[in-house]
Amino acid sequence: MKKSIGTLCVHAGYTPKNGESRQMPIVQSTTFKYNSSDAMGRLFDLEDSGYFYTRLQNPTNDMVAARIAALEGGIAGMLTSSGQAANFFACHNICDAGDHMITTSAIYGGTYNLFSTSFAKLGIEVTFVDQDASEEELSAAFRPNTKLVFSETLSNPGVKVLDIEKLARVAHSHGVPLIVDNTFPTPINCRPIEFGADIVTHSTTKYMDGHGTTVGGVIVDSGNFDWEANAEKFPGLCTPDESYHGLIYTKKFGKMAYITKATSQLMRDFGAIQAPQNAFYLGLGLQTLHVRMPYINKSALEIAKFFQTVPELKWIHYPGLEGDAEHQHAMKYLPDGCSGVMALALSGGREFANRFMDALQLITIETHVADCHSCILHPASHTHRQLSDQQLIEAGVDPDLMRLSIGLEDTADIIADIQQALDVARKG
Ligand SMILES: *Cc1c(COP(=O)(O)O)cnc(C)c1O
Repeated sequence: MKKSIGTLCVHAGYTPKNGESRQMPIVQSTTFKYNSSDAMGRLFDLEDSGYFYTRLQNPTNDMVAARIAALEGGIAGMLTSSGQAANFFACHNICDAGDHMITTSAIYGGTYNLFSTSFAKLGIEVTFVDQDASEEELSAAFRPNTKLVFSETLSNPGVKVLDIEKLARVAHSHGVPLIVDNTFPTPINCRPIEFGADIVTHSTTKYMDGHGTTVGGVIVDSGNFDWEANAEKFPGLCTPDESYHGLIYTKKFGKMAYITKATSQLMRDFGAIQAPQNAFYLGLGLQTLHVRMPYINKSALEIAKFFQTVPELKWIHYPGLEGDAEHQHAMKYLPDGCSGVMALALSGGREFANRFMDALQLITIETHVADCHSCILHPASHTHRQLSDQQLIEAGVDPDLMRLSIGLEDTADIIADIQQALDVARKG
């Protein structure tokens, strides 16, 4: 029986057998016991599949990863300790010292730093491109040693909507996969694999957990990319791994080559595993994702429309709004809704913004986004507070920009909070 996405949220990855726990069990164990030395040896050689040490694999983590893979329409997934670790592993699994990768530039600041600072130190060159560039312009960024293209479905914090099909076409025409960070839409609002993405990543810290409890990440493999057809670009997958007696991932694991290498080589060596207890919280959050996201989509659109009636509004970016520059792409890639994050600016400078934020009673000031609590961040006063207004403008950040993330509170209460805070701010 084919199951719809809501049913997968509740059930995928774990089906209890007779007499077993209805909820997924937490296997809070570092290691696993075997009856013979040979049986365990075969696991170390990847000759048999099974658990031996939680740094590589754990049953609770695998159940939750399988649930997310089912939601994204992929063949397998791997949980990581954070979204940062997910993007690091997703790229580094196929991109080594001396290699080159391409990323769009409107991406989460943490990912930007990962690529611009730490990848540079690892000897991986990264070219940042404008996601609105033409296919010809994007093609010009490729080099013989380019190994992948990276982007975000809905960028954080600019809420730009990625033309996934365009990026996938360009990547594939150069024989490399497209990796998409799908954190903000979640698979409820968009499944990038359906539009040609090969690998999908998430910071599960955001809507997937959804309650602000647990930092985590995931990588999902579509199984669609043909590594063997471009074998010269991907020696890590298509030539022997001497740390496993010369095993070749594509030969031994076929479509599972990429995710198996990520697990058995990168996780073995770098160890950024998610704690099983955290995986359990994530699995619990996923069980209501399909109920939470439509509510957030609807509430955020209503609140974005409310801001359009505020006299002090300078501008607002929310792709669900009809006049928004991203609306055409949103209708194609996010037809059910655009999640809860919006960027907006009120006239009156830092002082008005600060008076407004300080007067908010329900919406809290936080660096977090995308969970059940509404929250707000003003980069000029927080993350970028060392910069002058002129420096902010040079960095491409409007000094008045605020990032607002709509949670699960009642929409009317959120609007009332904004309204009363504006009244307070107006009094000076
Ligand atoms: C938060 C975030 C990350 C980083 O995830 P952590 O779980 O904080 O490590 C990566 N990508 C996007 C789009 C994010 O919003």
